[in-house]
Amino acid sequence: MTTTPDQLLRHPDNCCTELTEWLEGHGGKGLAAALHDPSTIIPTVKAAGLRGLGGSGFPAHRKWQTVAAQPPITDRYLICNGNEDEPGTFKDRLLLEESPHQVIEGALIAALATNVNQIVFYINPHLKRVHKILSEALTQWRQSHYLQQLSAQLGSTLQLTLIASPGHYIAGEETAAIESVEGNFPFPRGKPPYPAIAGVHGKPTLVNNIETLANVSHIMRNGAAWFQSLGHGHCSGTKIYCVSGDVVSAGAYELPMGTTLASLIFQQAGGLRDNRRLKAVFTGGPSSSILRADALAVALDFDSLAQHQAALGTGAMIVVAEGSPIIPHIAQYLDFFARASCGQCPPCTSGTREMALLTKKIAAGEGCAGDLKSLISLSEMLPGSGRCHLVDGAVTLLKSSLDHFRLEYQQALSS
Ligand code: SF4
Repeated sequence: MTTTPDQLLRHPDNCCTELTEWLEGHGGKGLAAALHDPSTIIPTVKAAGLRGLGGSGFPAHRKWQTVAAQPPITDRYLICNGNEDEPGTFKDRLLLEESPHQVIEGALIAALATNVNQIVFYINPHLKRVHKILSEALTQWRQSHYLQQLSAQLGSTLQLTLIASPGHYIAGEETAAIESVEGNFPFPRGKPPYPAIAGVHGKPTLVNNIETLANVSHIMRNGAAWFQSLGHGHCSGTKIYCVSGDVVSAGAYELPMGTTLASLIFQQAGGLRDNRRLKAVFTGGPSSSILRADALAVALDFDSLAQHQAALGTGAMIVVAEGSPIIPHIAQYLDFFARASCGQCPPCTSGTREMALLTKKIAAGEGCAGDLKSLISLSEMLPGSGRCHLVDGAVTLLKSSLDHFRLEYQQALSS
């Protein structure tokens, strides 16, 4: 396990798979505070500034408030989203393997705040070890007195369920996850209605990422001001950055939100392999933008990256060294998007496929000026043409590469 002095979620004291051990350490205290006065939960999460850590950066309390404000109804759902399928991202897997109880406790507190009685852990089916650990952890909670206490408080039996998600990328989109929980193919839905108002079976539904939920018990235990003090500006807390590519020590590094790119790559991940120079970083995984080597001072948080026309996304940082061509990476990620497209929106399905083919052709040295022109026009035509963000993410990546590495495209053309 990669450890740093700043870590919270991956602190050794939080890493255990036995509920008794968790409750002897940091565990249970956040839930106890929440049970003592449930009306404080949402204001505390709001004051802490917890944001969606699955990629959206959306303030967590806003969705919670909307679900909580819905009229009394038989069932309400919380989907704990662990579909995690994006290249370069493996933080939810680590959290669930190392410390499932802090995630579950966070989900229980979220349920209490929003009157949810159906908690569904929605986990990538390829993560067999996670399924085993989480299944055992959930059994331990079901047998604890907390479930009875929570059910009494909610006025309804609190159900904890673990299901395998379909596993592919688009199934992690929140409305696709809702379709999947209903037993359908994970086609993303149009919005509105938003899940917080009409989600699973038309009931109010909260969809939160695993890392987001993992923070909740610590916020309730230590307070909003403590959580804010860990971060940077309006981005509180820590972030698990997943670093991969041409670095000496690829891995997951939990650091204060707003850690600089330079610190992450050179102090934490050991710099670049073979003393090569940095060329670029795919921030937030493939569905975001590229930063060039001259952006090393940028703070890795939602707001700072937005000022650089980039995004934090899931916190995946894929590092590329000088001497490695960019276009094969773009072709590979566009192919990922083309395969992930669910087929509902023709511009997404054919557009991502066409962008993948053209970049592959150019990467192989077989592209012509017309191919580059076609890529540019696709990047202008496709944004906003899909029901979900997939096609926009693919275009953002392509546009970013065209902006930063246009010369490399031109030099790769065959004639
Ligand atoms: Fe499916 Fe693409 Fe449409 Fe999203 S944009 S719903 S992935 S076809």
